[in-house]
Amino acid sequence: MLIIEPQAPARASASADAPPVDHFIDGAFVGSAKRFDKHSPVDGRLIARVAEASREQVDAAVRAARAALHGPWGGLSVAQRVELLYAVADGINRRFDDFLAAEVADTGKPASLARHVDIPRGAANFKVFADVVKNVPTEFFEMATPDGAGALNYALRRPVGVIGVVCPWNLPLLLMTWKVGPALACGNTVVVKPSEETPQTAALLGEVMNSAGVPRGVYNVVHGFGPGSAGEFLTTHPGVNAITFTGETRTGAAIMKAAADGARPVSLEMGGKNAAVVFADCDFDAAVEGTLRSCFANCGQVCLGTERVYVQRPLFDRFVQALKRGAEAMRLGRPQDPATGMGPLISHEHRDKVLSYYRKAVELGATVVTGGGVPDMPPELAAGSWVQPTLWTGLGDDSPIAREEIFGPCALVMPFDTEEEVLRRVNDNDYGLATAIWTADLKRAHHVAGAIEVGIAWVNSWFLRDLRTPFGGAKQSGIGREGGVHSLEFYTELKNVCIKL
Ligand code: NAD
Repeated sequence: MLIIEPQAPARASASADAPPVDHFIDGAFVGSAKRFDKHSPVDGRLIARVAEASREQVDAAVRAARAALHGPWGGLSVAQRVELLYAVADGINRRFDDFLAAEVADTGKPASLARHVDIPRGAANFKVFADVVKNVPTEFFEMATPDGAGALNYALRRPVGVIGVVCPWNLPLLLMTWKVGPALACGNTVVVKPSEETPQTAALLGEVMNSAGVPRGVYNVVHGFGPGSAGEFLTTHPGVNAITFTGETRTGAAIMKAAADGARPVSLEMGGKNAAVVFADCDFDAAVEGTLRSCFANCGQVCLGTERVYVQRPLFDRFVQALKRGAEAMRLGRPQDPATGMGPLISHEHRDKVLSYYRKAVELGATVVTGGGVPDMPPELAAGSWVQPTLWTGLGDDSPIAREEIFGPCALVMPFDTEEEVLRRVNDNDYGLATAIWTADLKRAHHVAGAIEVGIAWVNSWFLRDLRTPFGGAKQSGIGREGGVHSLEFYTELKNVCIKL
């Protein structure tokens, strides 16, 4: 099949008229002499001129966060902090449409998706962790001593300090608040570095923090890139006590090296090459619907998304045909159109990467079941970063298409015969984030879920998230777990107090 080359993007040139997006430092919005352009992934329009933080501005943000630890924020009781975080969640909900518009403008994702997932979860992340902190006890041990008087031990949770929060672009508000919610609930202060692709909702949250009455310096945002820019300035800053990161595995490794200076803890949520495992006894329609969603939701830009589909042989041809029909029924279009099922990729740069895999699959001899190129879009959308939802067969587990994270709307579908075989093949991968198992056999479901080397295993579902449960990746997909009480492990120092009676 022919790979259609993307047209050279006809982008608006930089204009001083595009609205600015500024840093939020010490409770105030501040710009920078240096700015970069943010283009719409939908039509290539210039939508914002984003301030790029200098080292001095990152330093100012870290100092503001440090000062806030020792200011009114540090003196609040848990109940008072919880009340403020509830006010932040309410503030997001009150300005729901503003957050929705900002998120959709930055990412190009369908508004229907952001309305149901990104923005409500952004608000929920503050409430859930406020509740966790309010309700989770610490431990207590009574011990005997040789003199018979005894001693008491009890544990106290204390904030770690200033947390550096480095975020990706695929679910910007959701993933940022997934870190900021628990960090603040535990009494820390934060400096957030949103992705350069999606600066707007993090900035908007600054306004909500101010109107909710969160003291200045508690929540700070610095914009910019990774190496040689705000990401590096933040993660190498000695005033940052811990770093929490979501993004690519390679970036996570660089951040881990930066964090080694000063022996600072890291929590890393990184890439995946997630498998769906479809057994012949599954509920066929549910497995097709769930697999389509897991391959194509958010244009395939979900860390938990499926890029390898293993289908038991008796079902293979029928399943591939059903996936093909589903992919071809996917409507690509403007985010605001309720009929739109899939938006564009985040940027032309990312599209170049995804298309390089589309080409590689063909060079390696894959059968292109559907897609494989750039769709024909109406002229007003032609400068967007569109790609076709794509399915391949005919390649094995050793091909880069089966091994490397592509992060696009695409999957390689492969047949398997036995449970033992599929387990071996799924686990033979450097990543270990998530899996979706489709079967009607409960015994098999338990066995396979237990044996697959991942942080999150779904049975007969995908992306069903209870925020109290542990979230994170095995192998090169992550270090640490967040969610519910697990977030407390990272965002607090647990201190034992021993009292001799
Ligand atoms: P990325 O690693 O390119 O960038 C993430 C963030 O790190 C950005 O803010 C970027 O500016 C910053 N950064 C880049 N280099 C840096 C450096 N050297 N020092 C400090 N900061 C640096 O990731 P992305 O392209 O934004 O996001 C997509 C990736 O995120 C995919 O690999 C996806 O699987 C992963 N992801 C993982 C999860 C998870 O929960 N495991 C969730 C969402 C996305």
